[in-house]
Amino acid sequence: MGYGIETRCIHGEEGITREHAYGAMGTPIYQTATFAHPGVGRSTGYDYSRESNPTRSELEKIVTSLEGAYDTVACSSGMAALAVCLELLDPGAHVVCTEDLYGGSVRMFAAMGERHGITFSYADTSDERAAEEAVRRHPGTKALYIETPSNPTMKVTDLRAMRRLADRYGLLLIADNTFLSPYFQNPLELGADLVVHSGTKFLGGHNDTLAGFLCSADRETAARIRFLYKTLGASLSPFDSFLLIRGIKTLPVRMERQQQNALALARWLREQKGIGKVLYVGLPEHPGYEVNRGQARGSGSMISFYTDTPERAKRILERVRLISYAESLGGVESLVTYPMLQTHGDVPEDVRRRLGITDCLLRLSVGIENEADLLADLGQAIGEEQGK
Ligand SMILES: *Cc1c(COP(=O)(O)O)cnc(C)c1O
Repeated sequence: MGYGIETRCIHGEEGITREHAYGAMGTPIYQTATFAHPGVGRSTGYDYSRESNPTRSELEKIVTSLEGAYDTVACSSGMAALAVCLELLDPGAHVVCTEDLYGGSVRMFAAMGERHGITFSYADTSDERAAEEAVRRHPGTKALYIETPSNPTMKVTDLRAMRRLADRYGLLLIADNTFLSPYFQNPLELGADLVVHSGTKFLGGHNDTLAGFLCSADRETAARIRFLYKTLGASLSPFDSFLLIRGIKTLPVRMERQQQNALALARWLREQKGIGKVLYVGLPEHPGYEVNRGQARGSGSMISFYTDTPERAKRILERVRLISYAESLGGVESLVTYPMLQTHGDVPEDVRRRLGITDCLLRLSVGIENEADLLADLGQAIGEEQGK
């Protein structure tokens, strides 16, 4: 029996983090670009840091263990990981995607993917039939690209159903697992071939470092990714690798606390005057509640909600004091985002309207602050007259 996930976040799969010289607890930062060879045709195991670096290797082993992957590459950002992933596809390929993806992913697909002859279509993948119809409509479909819960409308896609669909049509199944992190969800164990992460978010956890991961399920795909990775130079720096190792040590306690705060905030928001629908996967009335429970170990800490008027949405953004009006998510600090202007600003307006990304939609990433303080801050920002 291997270690539990809390232990692996700190010590890795085989206690690898205890093997440092001098018994050092902290992972040494190998701040070096290159490595001297002991002789002709010989190597210490490391030759050049774009390809591999001991600090980064330790981080990659930890994330490989957390995701139950065959291999993981640590990249300089989530978008860098996605860029490596895109290179796996040949010109002419078509990809069916969850319709409300992270806006940056949509931008990359439109700006880079399509220039390389890869086309994309968007479907409500929380509806299995809609996903299959999209695949049928495009005979060149080679991959499914899924985010669950989705961003920002928190739709839940059944990953096992997507695996069955991928098997029927011979597709690569790729999942962006940023929102739940490997602490709550492991898409590879549910049948995904690849997992993409923005390590900037929950894995790093402190809103201070950009990072990304691409985890692969099998040896052949891993070898292709390693080749693309060293060729493109998407590598995470040794220092940032150290910060991610440090962040991941507290992933379980942060995720639990953030989830606890999020549930309290979601329940409270439901009752407030001036607030409409609250979208949180952990509320039993959420349409994806059961599917999420069947495939994940938690609901995370991302909440979206509608205000009654655009003015109130703007007022909240301007009046929050403890909570910051900022892009990003997953860190110990609570943040509120205006998806229409920020994360999804590059998504075409008609698509935004269809998805419900309106001028009344706000997205909260709940941190680990005191629950009462968070409620008080949101309360004063929403308005004076509280309680429905
Ligand atoms: C932030 C984010 C990304 C992009 O990651 P960066 O680290 O910002 O490059 C991709 N997917 C999701 C779901 C994200 O939240």
